[in-house]
Amino acid sequence: MKLNETLLNIMDNQDLENEQEAMDDHMMSALDTPLRSDAFDLTDQEKISIIEGHFKEIMHTLGLDLTDDSLKGTPRRVAKMYVKEIFHGLNPENKPDIRRFENKYKYHRMLVERDITLYSSCEHHFVPIIGKAHVAYIPGEHVIGLSKLNRIVQYYARRPQVQERMTMQIANELKQALQTEDVAVLIEADHLCVMSRGVNDVTSSTITAEYSGLFQEDQYRNEFLSHLRKK
Ligand SMILES: [Zn+2]
Repeated sequence: MKLNETLLNIMDNQDLENEQEAMDDHMMSALDTPLRSDAFDLTDQEKISIIEGHFKEIMHTLGLDLTDDSLKGTPRRVAKMYVKEIFHGLNPENKPDIRRFENKYKYHRMLVERDITLYSSCEHHFVPIIGKAHVAYIPGEHVIGLSKLNRIVQYYARRPQVQERMTMQIANELKQALQTEDVAVLIEADHLCVMSRGVNDVTSSTITAEYSGLFQEDQYRNEFLSHLRKK
């Protein structure tokens, strides 16, 4: 009986480890960020207080002296940074307001916004993902302000992410905002969890792309990619 229990425990642990390895390999998750239905029952201030307490515990457990001048403000600083900055995009209330304008110039060629600075966080390790996003669309009836393209990228970046999901979320939001299927998104990013730990690879980077509508055709996709090469 005892032996069986031990065996079961070992198997459970192995399953868990396999699962964690799969996470380490950044397998694709579902398109929506997995949020609980009560995700926003607490106010930002309540969240900051709770996270501050937990982060204090983490630092204490690591053996750090929280009475030290340099460290004592860190738990609160981290909590505020999580809620107000780097995970600000979890809350739908913080979604950028996108106003659509009539395409009165009748511009129907490709519009490319390239090298959009992207700071995100790996949801498996909670360390930064740093990169660039390039987005493009072919206007139909509507256009949006150029800076809104950056804001859409930033909104989806500012949450715990996997790069594949972030790419799809941005593409879907662009389709919605622009009322067209003709959008492209390409993200090139460095994952600090790959560079500074684990395999410690400082030279590799990760590229993901989504092409929809006309961008599924070689001609449009190649035009988009050629714009990215011209620097
Ligand atoms: Zn990671």
